[in-house]
Amino acid sequence: MLATASLDELRAAVREARAAGKRIGCVPTMGALHAGHLSLMRSALNETDYVVVTIFVNPTQFGPNEDFDRYPRQLDKDLELCRGLGVHCVFHPDVQTMYPPDDATIVEVQGLSTILEGEHRPGHFRGVTTVVTKLFHAVQPDVAFFGQKDFQQQLILRRMARDLLMPIRIRTCPTVRDPDGLALSSRNAYLTADERRTALNISRALFRAREAIESGELSVAEAEKRLVQVLSSVPGLKLDYAVIRNAETLDPAENTGDQLVGLVAARVGTTRLIDNVLISPPGTA
Ligand code: AMP
Repeated sequence: MLATASLDELRAAVREARAAGKRIGCVPTMGALHAGHLSLMRSALNETDYVVVTIFVNPTQFGPNEDFDRYPRQLDKDLELCRGLGVHCVFHPDVQTMYPPDDATIVEVQGLSTILEGEHRPGHFRGVTTVVTKLFHAVQPDVAFFGQKDFQQQLILRRMARDLLMPIRIRTCPTVRDPDGLALSSRNAYLTADERRTALNISRALFRAREAIESGELSVAEAEKRLVQVLSSVPGLKLDYAVIRNAETLDPAENTGDQLVGLVAARVGTTRLIDNVLISPPGTA
């Protein structure tokens, strides 16, 4: 496995793989790898021939009061995990490589980037779309793999790839959870045992909303109301939003036939967590 912080070395390796007729897969991450990241890598290894994992804690997607400085960094351990899985290349650039001095170019998907997560984390998605564009130019993958865990992010990146005519297929892979339902996240490392128990309410409430809608027990509006009520009353949990939306547009669900998604963001202690579940239209599950 090639592990490099050098753009030139990365490009040479990818050029060689492509010249050998290999399809290039890319898995962008911020490191602190867990089983969720590993499942993206396994999909990439199954579906493409040369897999590049990128590890870059991207400063521009963190707000001024967010956790950039304390975000977990464990490059050696991450490289071991990638090597063990059979990943071909890990690209771990430094900030100067990704953001040359006087860098003045941004990429932004309008509209979708300013609602929900975008409203609570102003500028976050601009940071994501800008860095992913740079990573796509560096790696030039045929297929890029993202997690459903960051539901709004994968929608925005699909839109970006389409709008900017990027010849890259975006694959979204299912959320990996601990056996009790908690969605895996590098930020779970911040949680105390008590906070982790509090956090479990998020996935539980989402699963219940899914069940209530799919079985026809509650309308979408009723289920959303209950989701908000339940999560607002959990001690130690501060809700940013809990909504049930159209899964393609994130608009309020209008049509009873819409594919739906329940999305929650909440703070537990100083840790901000997000989760979501796909919900089939009533009567079709
Ligand atoms: P991050 O390192 O948090 O930026 O995540 C890198 C990629 O892994 C993103 O595409 C995430 O959506 C994905 N990811 C993070 N957590 C999970 C999870 N629990 N299951 C599946 N994919 C995940």
